[in-house]
Amino acid sequence: MRILLTNDDGIYAPGIHAMKRALDDLGNVFMVAPERPRSAAGHSITLHKPLRVTAMTLPNGMKGHAVSGTPTDSVTLGLEIVMEGNCDLVVSGINNGANLGWDLTYSGTVAAAFEGAVLGMPAIAVSVTADSVSPESIDFLPAAQFIARLARQLLADPLPRHTFLNVNVPNVPAEELLGVTVTHQGRREYVDRIVKRLDPGGRPYYWQGGSLREDVPDPGSDVHAVLENRISVTPVQLDLTDYVLIDRLRGWELA
Ligand code: MN
Repeated sequence: MRILLTNDDGIYAPGIHAMKRALDDLGNVFMVAPERPRSAAGHSITLHKPLRVTAMTLPNGMKGHAVSGTPTDSVTLGLEIVMEGNCDLVVSGINNGANLGWDLTYSGTVAAAFEGAVLGMPAIAVSVTADSVSPESIDFLPAAQFIARLARQLLADPLPRHTFLNVNVPNVPAEELLGVTVTHQGRREYVDRIVKRLDPGGRPYYWQGGSLREDVPDPGSDVHAVLENRISVTPVQLDLTDYVLIDRLRGWELA
């Protein structure tokens, strides 16, 4: 079995190394990841400049390929160049930070799994729900072990093409995890998203970020599951159409 492993935190991030160690038992793991952190890159691709793929040995002895582009670039180059088109599974992560609800559209981690699905491969995105500035302090092992188990299941019982799994693992000790829930994508909204500051010349500049809106999480959602210390597994499809609105829209006088 040939596995393409990528992420959006970059090839030096401890999360991807923990994932590699767990996947090494399943087959041949090709770690192909951005050369620097690209979180919140979304599904962007590099079109107007050349891309480099650099074979390297990391300080911990692991071998991989660093890509000068985005997580999505890493999937396409990993598949076509490093793996010569021969890949059985794409895994993206383990991300340092949750990828829940509406954040899926910002996420480079999730976008890499999206790209795997676009290319017709089974794919898993995985995140630990820490928002830690020091990923060295996160124990990625429970998430890594769960994904190794999930990957075996996914390959034994393949899902339809152009779908993938988005997994979020609460950042708690393994003994505090209360099981696994199959979820739907929930909501995540931010408030106070823009902070305005003044530079020494008196001109405004802005920081994006904000904090999560206080919201009662939707039961059965990914957001709800991780709040209850449960691993969330959401099946995701590429089709973003709102089918309920199709009929209503057809009733509009658009001609
Ligand atoms: Mn990230």
